[in-house]
Amino acid sequence: MRSGGRGRVLPWGMATLSERLPENAPGRYYVDATCIDCDQCRAIAPEIFARNEASGLSVVAKQPLSAEELALAEEALTSCATASIGNDGA
Ligand code: SF4
Repeated sequence: MRSGGRGRVLPWGMATLSERLPENAPGRYYVDATCIDCDQCRAIAPEIFARNEASGLSVVAKQPLSAEELALAEEALTSCATASIGNDGA
C-alpha cells in the first residue's frame, strides 16, 4: 500500500494518473511523480524508459508497440518497487 493524493490509500501496484509526469510520451504507459530514479525500468526496457535529465526521474520515452515491447513494459511496471509506472488503458 502507498499513500495517494488527498489522503487516499492506494493498493500496491497502481501509479497515479493525476501525478503523471508531463515528460512522458503520449499514450497508455506513464511514470508518475513517485519515481525514485532507481534505474530498474531503464535496465529492463531501455527502448521504452529513459531518464529525464530535468526532473531526474524516469519517463516513458517511447510507447511500446510490438508484443515484445509490451511484454517489457509490463515487466517494468510490475517490477517497479514504488509502483510508479502506470497503464491507463487508453
Ligand atoms: S523502476 Fe520505478 S522507481 Fe525505478 S526508475 Fe523506473 S519508474 Fe522510477
